[in-house]
Amino acid sequence: MFGEFGGRFIAETLYEPLEELDRAFRKAIKTKDFLRKLDYYLRVYAGRPTPLYYAKNSSEKLGLKLYIKREDLLHTGAHKINNTLGQCLLAKDILRKQRIIAETGAGQHGVATATACALFSLKCVVYMGKIDTERQEINVLKMKLLGAEVVPVESGTRTLKDAINEALRDWITNIDTTHYVIGSVVGPEPFPEIVAFFQSVIGEETIRQIRKFEGRYPDFVVACVGGGSNAIGIFRPFLKTKVDLIGVEAGGDGNNHSASLNYGKIGIFHGSKTYVLQDEDGQILGTHSIAPGLDYPAVGPEHSYLRSTGRVKYVVSDDQAALEGFEFLSRVEGIIPAMEPAHAMGWILRNAKDLKKSTIILNLSGRGDKDMHIYKTVRAK
Ligand SMILES: *Cc1c(COP(=O)(O)O)cnc(C)c1O
Repeated sequence: MFGEFGGRFIAETLYEPLEELDRAFRKAIKTKDFLRKLDYYLRVYAGRPTPLYYAKNSSEKLGLKLYIKREDLLHTGAHKINNTLGQCLLAKDILRKQRIIAETGAGQHGVATATACALFSLKCVVYMGKIDTERQEINVLKMKLLGAEVVPVESGTRTLKDAINEALRDWITNIDTTHYVIGSVVGPEPFPEIVAFFQSVIGEETIRQIRKFEGRYPDFVVACVGGGSNAIGIFRPFLKTKVDLIGVEAGGDGNNHSASLNYGKIGIFHGSKTYVLQDEDGQILGTHSIAPGLDYPAVGPEHSYLRSTGRVKYVVSDDQAALEGFEFLSRVEGIIPAMEPAHAMGWILRNAKDLKKSTIILNLSGRGDKDMHIYKTVRAK
């Protein structure tokens, strides 16, 4: 539990499998062979450590010191591979399960999972809302090319939350052979802890790197928050310091958004107690963000906890601010960011006056190639 948040709000039959997973995880992180293998694949396959880049042009333009943690340079183009490599290795070497299932909304987590499954020769089934399979046909094609089976989910609103339900149903049915790879720091315990562990490598590297550059900690660390895994990954090692930590949620288009911590209410979603976007009756609200990866109606329970203690400040960037961040990093640094971290850059741009002379680290969670079709639509307007 993270204070009053987290827990296990699940079918009784999942209790024992989650206990088994918890035991396996605890064993794994004490097993030298496992950690050595994970480190090996993170380095030679995924491309870690990623650079911490001093963004000189932006810094001069904005009158501050901006460093960019380049998770966009990882294999498959985002931080998600840190988690899927870790969990698939956990399934194969410790849990000894040969079948992997996952849910995906925009398809990024599905592709990262299918990639790890191809690498470790595991069977892979990805649940995806029917509507999402139509919106993201290139990612569906990638998953299939990588050897995964993609199951379009026809129930409910035919989007992410229905894919989650189907994945949980599959897991209950095939628990002896199957591990469920959750894509962010969400879901019932111990998933939020497992994903946070595998993503913390981002923050651990960053602390070493900024010390080398500056000989001290930064003033701010800024990351976008969908489910919250890239943010927890970079925040975790800074929690014990005095560094200001800023999580940037998606403010959307004025009608819809996906800012659960800023506008949501405490509820239960995906097996966990956390901030959720829901109506009076507890029905999950429709979400929107220009960034497909931020389009999740809840947030990891650790973020709800960090909000409640005040250790992390959660702010909002809307679609327009994200577009400004997207264009700024492209033009000024020659880095086309994913729309998700473009929200975090947008927040820095809009608050640059108050941030003058500060040293800031931006977690650039992914690259923007996947979002060019979105940019094309916006530009055409
Ligand atoms: C999926 C994704 C996110 C959102 O997920 P978190 O768990 O909040 O990190 C952010 N950035 C990129 C590039 C993504 O692909």
